[in-house]
Amino acid sequence: MNKSALHKISYGLYIISSGQDGKFNGQIGNTMFQVTSDPATIAISINKENYTHELIKLTRKFSVSILSQAAPMTFIGLFGFKSGRDVNKLQNVKTKTGPTGVPIVLDYSIGYLETELMSELDCGTHTIFVGRVVDADVTGNEEPMTYDYYHKVKGGKASKNAPTYIKEDPATKQAQTAPAARYVCSVCGYVYDPVNGDPDSGVAPGTRFEDIPDSWVCPICGAAKAQFEKE
Ligand code: FE
Repeated sequence: MNKSALHKISYGLYIISSGQDGKFNGQIGNTMFQVTSDPATIAISINKENYTHELIKLTRKFSVSILSQAAPMTFIGLFGFKSGRDVNKLQNVKTKTGPTGVPIVLDYSIGYLETELMSELDCGTHTIFVGRVVDADVTGNEEPMTYDYYHKVKGGKASKNAPTYIKEDPATKQAQTAPAARYVCSVCGYVYDPVNGDPDSGVAPGTRFEDIPDSWVCPICGAAKAQFEKE
């Protein structure tokens, strides 16, 4: 079986939020799609280990914020590689509370959907939640972030808890390695590619890893430069 075929599927990038009574959380998700238009329903796939999964089960509601291409890696990293059990992810982020009481993330979003849970399907490591849309709005006109853009332009990786996470085959990885050395974060798997640099953190495209200041940290998880390894 050639699992690379799964990489040919296209996705967007979203922040899925849930919670109530001061217990709020949000997480990055790429597996979201519209199921029906009348009534409007959407589906998401969430890892059972995630705090957001626990909150959706508890409150039976969730919101989806549609991210724009402008979302920086630090913002995606906050929601993608940190657990809401350890950090209050919504603390320094612009949010609003929807009619159902669910939190909705507004930063770097071009629209949102607020839902009440209709149905769920146990899929082993993940649960598919189907939500009836009870409120929605457009909040920006920028281009939506696609998963492909996140990978190719931003250098992003899938979190190990993502439905689309695929363990990299070392042989494949070797073949893909370009002559200009790329460095991998040993904590989250983010790859620093000198071709792209890290413009969000002021590192211009074309900057060799060795030339980045020592104060630079992983844009995804905040790990120190020293925690990077040559690919
Ligand atoms: Fe990292």
